[in-house]
Amino acid sequence: MPRTRSDRRTARWHAALGGLLLAAASGAQALTVFTCEAEWAALVRELAPQAQVRSATHARQDPHHIEARPSLIAALRNADLAVCTGAGLEAAWLPTLQQRAGNPRVQDGAPGMVYASAQVKLIDPRPPGTPFEGDVHAEGNPHLHLDPRNLLPVAQAVTAQLQAADPARRADYSARLDAFTQAWRGRIGDWERRAASLRGARVATQHTTFAYFWRWLGVEPVADLEPKPGLPPTPGHLQRVLEATRANPPAAVVVSLYQDPRPAQWLGQQLGRPQSVLQLPSTVTEEAGTDSLAGLFDHLIDRLRATR
Ligand SMILES: [Zn+2]
Repeated sequence: MPRTRSDRRTARWHAALGGLLLAAASGAQALTVFTCEAEWAALVRELAPQAQVRSATHARQDPHHIEARPSLIAALRNADLAVCTGAGLEAAWLPTLQQRAGNPRVQDGAPGMVYASAQVKLIDPRPPGTPFEGDVHAEGNPHLHLDPRNLLPVAQAVTAQLQAADPARRADYSARLDAFTQAWRGRIGDWERRAASLRGARVATQHTTFAYFWRWLGVEPVADLEPKPGLPPTPGHLQRVLEATRANPPAAVVVSLYQDPRPAQWLGQQLGRPQSVLQLPSTVTEEAGTDSLAGLFDHLIDRLRATR
């Protein structure tokens, strides 16, 4: 019996529907990845574009201190994999999330719990037995993502666990890692050339958020608006910073997007250089331009170059 036009349309519709169902089924198998910070979410998206990625914090939040909200507990409960910084950065909230989520895949020691700090050498490690002064960074400086070279070993470690959790896509993850590594090495070289004029520049900061970035580019942090790591600036400490920098003001006074910029603005005013105050994102944001890892480093270098 000859098929009518309507039959053919129905057949085409069934084929299309089958395709949709197939896509939905393979989508359902995509990994769910929880990250503590936005930089790791951005990295996971580079390495596993089909994964469902959720970051616990964003660029306008202080990653040392967030609330262990029920929505975050639920997100961690469903995660196949978690990527966090470690080195105590999330000490105030991640253990609570892990305990309440009760997800064995992402407890400490499980292969699905990836700590970036375990992949690199930290700045300012505290020698064993020395007293800890400050509120944060008891294990050394955890803000390692701001040296882009550190992202390469972290990408390798993340890829290994993506492959373990999702072996069907093993070859795909390897190819993505290779492409990322090659492109990222090229970008690092470009950034180092573009930032050559920053070598030797002096900056005042608030917290050691950008310590890895300064060290990478040969920028010299000469003052910290925080009296101790994690403690907010006090009038007495700011006055001392002013005295120490007045004769030779830094090229920039840098604060993070999540910090109150007023102490830095005060210092900039007192130094007669209000334009030197830069409020910079310390991680990937949701705004165009800094919504990717590469965009973040482009932006940081451009903003600092503009002060020279
Ligand atoms: Zn910190």
